[in-house]
Amino acid sequence: MSILRTYLDWLIELPWSESTPDNLDVRNASRVLNRRHHGLRKAKERILEYIAVRGLARERQRQPILCFVGPPGTGKTSLGQSIAEALGRKFVRVSLGGVRDEAEIRGHRRTYIGALPGRVLQTMRRAGTVNPLFMLDEIDKLGHDFRGDPAAALLEVLDPEQNHAFSDHYLEIAFDLSKVMFITTANTLGPVPPALVDRMEVIEFPGYIEEEKLVIAHKFLIPRQLEENGLEPRELKIGDDVLQAIIRQYTWEAGVRNLEREIGKVCRKVARRKAEKQKIPRKITPTVLARLLGPPEITPREPETEDQVGSATGLAWTENGGETISVEVLLIDGKGGLQITGQIGDVMQESGQAALSYVKSRAKDLGVNPEIFEKKDVHIHIPEGAIPKDGPSAGITLATALASALTGRPVRRQVGMSGEITLRGRVLPVGGVREKVLAAYRLKLTTVVLPAQNKKDLADVPAKARSALDLRFVRHIDEVLAVALLPQATKQPRSTRPRHKRSERQAAGASS
Ligand code: ADP
Repeated sequence: MSILRTYLDWLIELPWSESTPDNLDVRNASRVLNRRHHGLRKAKERILEYIAVRGLARERQRQPILCFVGPPGTGKTSLGQSIAEALGRKFVRVSLGGVRDEAEIRGHRRTYIGALPGRVLQTMRRAGTVNPLFMLDEIDKLGHDFRGDPAAALLEVLDPEQNHAFSDHYLEIAFDLSKVMFITTANTLGPVPPALVDRMEVIEFPGYIEEEKLVIAHKFLIPRQLEENGLEPRELKIGDDVLQAIIRQYTWEAGVRNLEREIGKVCRKVARRKAEKQKIPRKITPTVLARLLGPPEITPREPETEDQVGSATGLAWTENGGETISVEVLLIDGKGGLQITGQIGDVMQESGQAALSYVKSRAKDLGVNPEIFEKKDVHIHIPEGAIPKDGPSAGITLATALASALTGRPVRRQVGMSGEITLRGRVLPVGGVREKVLAAYRLKLTTVVLPAQNKKDLADVPAKARSALDLRFVRHIDEVLAVALLPQATKQPRSTRPRHKRSERQAAGASS
């Protein structure tokens, strides 16, 4: 009996026809989005276009499914909320992180004890209207196991051909999802099934540079945290120097989530002093900051103070934005073997092999005594092993570190690079250029070497970072070596010297 009652409750409480009227005033929407969010130009433009087109061709247009992709804290969820506000729709969200069972999306049959509808209908009940803005978070964290593939169920939810009659195992009555505006979010599209990616229009949220973070903090994060902690704006001033210290020493992120958390912490500590009627510092200085937050959590990676032989800096993409990775090469007694250590994947192992084969095949031109490969083993190490690293884009970094170790020519310490290498030394394009260039900018490198085919991606890099860096686009590893390697510093066996000089001339020629 109670099973039946629960079922009837669901039938009654699901929204079958209630809807909110859409506000399709583009200017209003533009105001709302700009008032709440700094930057994010591409995403805002796309949303305004959507609203404009809906205003002109009301019923004919299908609901596009947008997918916001970017690191945590880059404003994906909050932009979704603002879109809902601008349109006058209800906002609901559900996280798909860790969902492995199809029934979690589509519900259990009623014969099953304790059966309930799936998350989609549960969320629709919460929305209470047939046309909410429905955010599906973390679609890249969807799993699957023997209980069926939740991605397949999700495909049906997002398919305009099918979702007007979505079938939930519990409900067993078709439910119309066609009026819902779906927005999905992901940190990266890598793990998302291609069929799902095909169905969506991807908008990237690439992460902020320091200057953008400062604006966001002053305009949005600080006022919000002051208010939440019961402080008046005049009671607490947080200047750029303090924000920079927080950004550099207490957070390590592409977004602003931890920045907001740390600002919140400062506000809380001050609020407590206020409540205890203690004197409160009117203006926070970096010294006061260290007292409030404790010693810095991140010691910034010290740039190398000297140009090193056998150590090169690569630029890598991570879910949290760009990072640098250092590659170290050591020659040890042996018989030409190769050993690669550090937490790295198969693809990177293979790039190491390819880089070594290339350097071996060109030993003479590079000024490397070929006998070295009969007497020495090469050991490549990629430290900071806690972060797993993989992908082919470290190829040119591996080759540079190898060439440096084998020739004794130091690597310029302020050069960062990324590029895949082929066995013949051609340099192939890589992904994540914006994040990589931003990482180089943040770490104050002077020069960045990238594949020529990536030149087009510069459009996404903020002008400030672009103009601060010497960006070199290359097609061949010889050009990389010409930029990254210094002439030999110290003694080398006499016999290799003239050859080495020639190779330098060749390499320099290749870069021009
Ligand atoms: P995500 O969903 O990408 O993880 P959120 O939308 O939760 O990120 O954003 C985290 C916090 O940062 C929110 O408080 C949000 O208001 C703020 N934020 C992020 N980007 C911006 C921006 N461009 N302008 C204003 N606030 C922002």
